[in-house]
Amino acid sequence: FPVENIRNFSIVAHVDHGKSTLADRLLELTGTIDKTENNKQVLDKLQVERERGITVKAQTASLFYNCEGKQYLLNLIDTPGHVDFSYEVSRSLSACQGVLLVVDANEGIQAQTVANFFLAFEAQLSVIPVINKIDLKNADPERVENQIEKVFDIPSDECIKISAKLGTNVESVLQAVIERIPPPKVHRKNPLRALVFDSTFDQYRGVIANVALFDGVVSKGDKIVSAHTQKTYEVNEVGVLNPNEQPTHKLYAGQVGYLIAGMKNVIEAQIGDTLYLHKQPVEPLPGFKSAKPMVFAGMYPVDQSEYNNLKSAIEKLTLNDSSVTVHRDSSLALGAGWRLGFLGLLHMEVFNQRLEQEYNASVILTTPTVPYKAVLSSSKLIKARRAVQKNMIFIDQNRVMLKYLFPLNEIVVDFYDSLKSLSSGYASFDYEDAGYQTAELVKMDILLNGNTVEELVTVVHKDKAHSIGKAICERLKDSLPRQLFEIAIQAAIGSKIIARETVKAYRKNVLAKCYGGDITRKMKLLKRQAEGKKKLRKIGNVEVPKDAFIKVLKTR
Ligand code: GDP
Ligand code: MG
Repeated sequence: FPVENIRNFSIVAHVDHGKSTLADRLLELTGTIDKTENNKQVLDKLQVERERGITVKAQTASLFYNCEGKQYLLNLIDTPGHVDFSYEVSRSLSACQGVLLVVDANEGIQAQTVANFFLAFEAQLSVIPVINKIDLKNADPERVENQIEKVFDIPSDECIKISAKLGTNVESVLQAVIERIPPPKVHRKNPLRALVFDSTFDQYRGVIANVALFDGVVSKGDKIVSAHTQKTYEVNEVGVLNPNEQPTHKLYAGQVGYLIAGMKNVIEAQIGDTLYLHKQPVEPLPGFKSAKPMVFAGMYPVDQSEYNNLKSAIEKLTLNDSSVTVHRDSSLALGAGWRLGFLGLLHMEVFNQRLEQEYNASVILTTPTVPYKAVLSSSKLIKARRAVQKNMIFIDQNRVMLKYLFPLNEIVVDFYDSLKSLSSGYASFDYEDAGYQTAELVKMDILLNGNTVEELVTVVHKDKAHSIGKAICERLKDSLPRQLFEIAIQAAIGSKIIARETVKAYRKNVLAKCYGGDITRKMKLLKRQAEGKKKLRKIGNVEVPKDAFIKVLKTR
């Protein structure tokens, strides 16, 4: 395939503006899939994507398109829209020369439209604005055109107005891809230089690396080297994604495809790595900034005997999602487990759901926390404000873009939901890391009859300590069984008690229902009670069942 007939592009948009639907139409128009009523987000292959109706994982598809007697190879990379997955977006963009920026004709520019535009702009890609859903009754494509011109400085006559759902005007999107996006700048005569921009793990075939070839050619049987590990592999299979894997003899510079070479684990298949031919070393490609986890949570097997199964499930899933960080951890209450770092809350939920659905694992996920840096000094003099306005831009008469500096902790748990309900669903939200800021944070202990519960020590903002402490005490009260004596549940900062609940004394007599006679029945009940106690942990004189910890520590 001549390089000048190749186009590598991606579709980016705010969530629900119609990326996946547009991808379906493009696949149909190019004959990649048959045209049927059932083509709904065909690139969303994962169960979690189908259930939630969102794209989590970027997918690649190679399309063939005839135009004015020439055949073109269009490599389409569908990307997730939600803020938590912008890491997937920026990775996909490194394999592209252009993007289709899809904007809903009714909703107009939203937070992730802006975020995605700037990702593409910074990567110096051609941006083709596509106004979608013009079939909607409330569609106002002219207003959206003006927004695009105002915010992105793209002339309004460059906007293509379509209905991805009905297929209206979608052909002109393909035309624009050919006319406005340049072919990749590559050199086929140079030695092989391939970027691993994604990888998935297949139980039977090992790592399947998604590669974009910048230079040279790769064929089955070639010996290749990973610039990152310096390990050598033999290529077992190469091919294109159509959107399913379709083996080919070779992959040429300018193409996007997959490669299988007996790589077995996460470390061997680093995303951002450069592959080259054995004995023909090249300068590695720039690679990627590693993803920066923003939200941390503990993950434990429900039963410790499941530890090894869960470990291997996490290893496999992190191979499909390298933005998750994993560190071994252990908790007195929950046993051996891990501390995982995620890009956001939705990312965490999706990871958890994938573990359960794709790997049959049942896990306990603890309440997420955000990273803090502690400075050991006595001058935290500057009063930390919780949110600082940075700027304000009017997109048009009806819409304004506000920039604030927020502590991550404040937005991580329920900010998005509150914003949506306050604005009746009109506001949208995106964030990026602004670095560490000083804040008045305190360490809060939870005490049971005066003894600290190590598992429940948390770091909270001084102003929120009371309400969070109270909530934890209440949850603990509801899940602690009554014991022979009264239990005081307290939240404390240093020696100062800030919240308190009490569990009244109660004598649980397991034999109460036996009328003295049946001795074997008695024995059975006593044995069962003893077994139940094994799962208890003693904190001072208070017995805490594992269940109680789970209820307090779990997210929901
Ligand atoms: P994505 O999150 O950007 O991938 O969006 P999807 O492709 O999943 O589409 C989100 C929703 O918008 C789905 O319910 C689609 O059926 C709907 N949708 C997409 N394109 C159109 C369109 O042109 N017109 C209308 N009316 N609905 C559309
Ligand atoms: Mg989608």
